[in-house]
Amino acid sequence: MSNDTHYDVIIIGTGAGGGTLAYTLAPSGKRILILERGNYVPREKENWSSRAVNVEARYHTKELWKDKDGKALHPHINYYVGGNTKFYGAALFRLRERDFTEIRHHGGVSPAWPISYQDLEPYYARAERLYEVHGQRGEDPTEPPATNEYPFPAVSHEPRIQALSEHFANQGLRPFHVPLGIRLNETNPDSSRCIRCNTCDGFACLVHAKSDAQVMCIDPALQHPNVTLLTGAYVSRLDTSASGREITGVHVQRNGQAERYSADVVVVSCGAINSAALLLRSANDKHPHGLGNCSGVVGRHYMGHINSVLMAVSKCPNPTVFQKTLAVNDFYFGSNDFEFPMGHISFVGKLDAVALSAGAPPLTPGFTLDLMAKHSLDFWLTSEDLPDPENRVTLDREGRFRITEQEKGGRTGDDVFSCSSNDFAGAGVEPFRDCLVKRRSPTYHRAKATSSRQIVDDLVACRSCALVKSDLLIRVDDAHNSNFSRIGHIEFPSGKPFVKEPYSACERACRSRSHNLCDFVRPYDLE
Ligand SMILES: Cc1cc2nc3c(=O)[nH]c(=O)nc-3n(C[C@H](O)[C@H](O)[C@H](O)COP(=O)(O)OP(=O)(O)OC[C@H]3O[C@@H](n4cnc5c(N)ncnc54)[C@H](O)[C@@H]3O)c2cc1C
Ligand code: SF4
Repeated sequence: MSNDTHYDVIIIGTGAGGGTLAYTLAPSGKRILILERGNYVPREKENWSSRAVNVEARYHTKELWKDKDGKALHPHINYYVGGNTKFYGAALFRLRERDFTEIRHHGGVSPAWPISYQDLEPYYARAERLYEVHGQRGEDPTEPPATNEYPFPAVSHEPRIQALSEHFANQGLRPFHVPLGIRLNETNPDSSRCIRCNTCDGFACLVHAKSDAQVMCIDPALQHPNVTLLTGAYVSRLDTSASGREITGVHVQRNGQAERYSADVVVVSCGAINSAALLLRSANDKHPHGLGNCSGVVGRHYMGHINSVLMAVSKCPNPTVFQKTLAVNDFYFGSNDFEFPMGHISFVGKLDAVALSAGAPPLTPGFTLDLMAKHSLDFWLTSEDLPDPENRVTLDREGRFRITEQEKGGRTGDDVFSCSSNDFAGAGVEPFRDCLVKRRSPTYHRAKATSSRQIVDDLVACRSCALVKSDLLIRVDDAHNSNFSRIGHIEFPSGKPFVKEPYSACERACRSRSHNLCDFVRPYDLE
């Protein structure tokens, strides 16, 4: 084998995992080859275009996967230098101490990790320095002990979010500033890389001010002459020695050519799904079920965040530009009336009419969406999945991924927020309802045009309706996992107590959280 193709270390993937490792190993002087299937995100105006990102899905892979029923699934993931961190929301949390222990959820048990939070604490501290995290210790009631302050001060709230934060605090909650990896200098704006724009969460940063794995890790690593990056280098399989214990070859497809590399150490950091797929694809005589898979566990226990976006549409406008600064963890491990974990509440980047149009029925008037977006507080609700062995990544005969997800033990059922025809009867929200739930509900065939004024009136009427406890809460996203769907369909919640039994953990969690949010948002917005 030629020396040119043998390295000390090969790192496959340049995301949070591979990028951070490359940065850390680069000063060692070892010969390091980084293999990345994608290219650099092109720097272009579309980086910050809501239409290009949210409607046209310009940067998502065009790969087609399959869901559990064998139907085509468009994964909303990105193959670029920096991996998914190019598009992430840059909320950089540590896990909580209790997250490492066995936790009982409504839908089952999350087993203990083999390591503890204390084992990882020094690495969290280093990662926070590397990714220039901006935050404020001591605010988040679930925060684990830390040996360091955040390296940079928290990103401030804009007035509407500050007011909401104060209102939450007055109600007895303990809102806090989201720890963020954006390179914002609020004391000296002229020297700040970050310009605090409205296209951050889900967008690549055109001015390279987001702490992503390309900017913070791969670019500096490549300053070292011992580090080489090959882009457009898709790793198709790994060879092993006759004993089956060492990786002897890394097969790469690049520019339509087959290439083969080797290294003393090979790191598979292609993301949760692609790493499993690569190990499964590399099956050989010694490892007929894939590498490292004599247990049959590779690809199983796949866990995603269970995400929903909840729009609280309020009479009070929300002109916030960068909204993702506020979070609430008071229900993270449960509440007085619900003993199981309910997850984390924060914000997505400010939704606009274009982003909403991606999930709205085709005839929804643009001004309706615009008005909604201008009045909405766009909450991000995240709870955790359970490690179910049947939630798994497998490959079909052609090598395509299949993701099998079970709707149990913590999954959000579609019925949680679904709308029945009676829910809004008399609530004065006819025009909204007809426009927006048409696709989901065959009884609503008309897409009525409506005036902006009427919509605001509807919202006000809606607030005083007994069925809808306060402002209108709209579920925008049925993202079981941010890998799969970002902005899904728009639905209206019933606002009534949800009557379906038995509740899955997440149904219950969403129910409690949306009610909690309702309760807290309402008094403020009635002011
Ligand atoms: C829109 C969005 C918002 C998010 N917001 C947040 C947030 O606010 N906070 C947070 O903590 N997390 C967030 N995440 C999640 C976070 O981005 C991921 O958890 C993280 O990037 C995972 O890192 P990784 O290294 O495991 O994988 P990835 O970042 O996915 O990197 C894997 C890399 O491997 C490459 N690759 C894959 N297969 C191959 C192959 N066969 N050969 C060669 N290369 C390959 C890919 O192209 C990619 O570059 C968000 C994700 C998305 C999509
Ligand atoms: S808010 Fe800052 S980091 Fe985020 S995209 Fe805008 S300029 Fe970049």
